[in-house]
Amino acid sequence: MHSKTLKLTTCLLLGLVSIIGDKLVSYNNNNHFLKAVIDNATHGIVAGLSWTLIVLLQNEPIAKNLPSILFCIFLSSLIDVDHFVEAKSFNIKDATNLDHRPFFHCTTLPIIIWAVLLVVSKLASENLYNLNYCAWILLTSFLSHHIRDATRRGLWVPPFGSTGKIPYYFYVLLTMLFPYFVYLSMEKYQKIIPSVDNV
Ligand SMILES: [Zn+2]
Repeated sequence: MHSKTLKLTTCLLLGLVSIIGDKLVSYNNNNHFLKAVIDNATHGIVAGLSWTLIVLLQNEPIAKNLPSILFCIFLSSLIDVDHFVEAKSFNIKDATNLDHRPFFHCTTLPIIIWAVLLVVSKLASENLYNLNYCAWILLTSFLSHHIRDATRRGLWVPPFGSTGKIPYYFYVLLTMLFPYFVYLSMEKYQKIIPSVDNV
């Protein structure tokens, strides 16, 4: 497939997977276990497709970057573990009935970790390009997850508070455009801090 077509297909798939995943979640509203499994799988696939699109925009081969795509899927799926940690229970009903947002759903957290990883990778005596790369994967996995959750509960950005719920089709559009935003930010960062290019 032509590179441009592949990028566009991945972008459209992001929107499609989000909508189908959300529909399947609402169809299974009464089956808490299935609902949680589908929801988590959708988060993982959306994160994986987001990083795949970033890899494609960098004109990098998907096969070579498969570990980073899988890492992005894994991180995004791991985020909802915080529901169980805060509920102190393995019961899905307890985990999904918290009266507050659990800690991994704080959007300030991945932004701080991303910034710290970039600073450490820059200040370290050796060139820690992998750490720099991990910072962007982490940001993509967390923010793609948070954007999807935001259509139900808004974005939680302490100490600034929370946004309102993101309108549904705006969230779909945001999910499709988010990888372009990350890619452009990575490009911009590498221009400002060129040493990370010297791998
Ligand atoms: Zn979540």
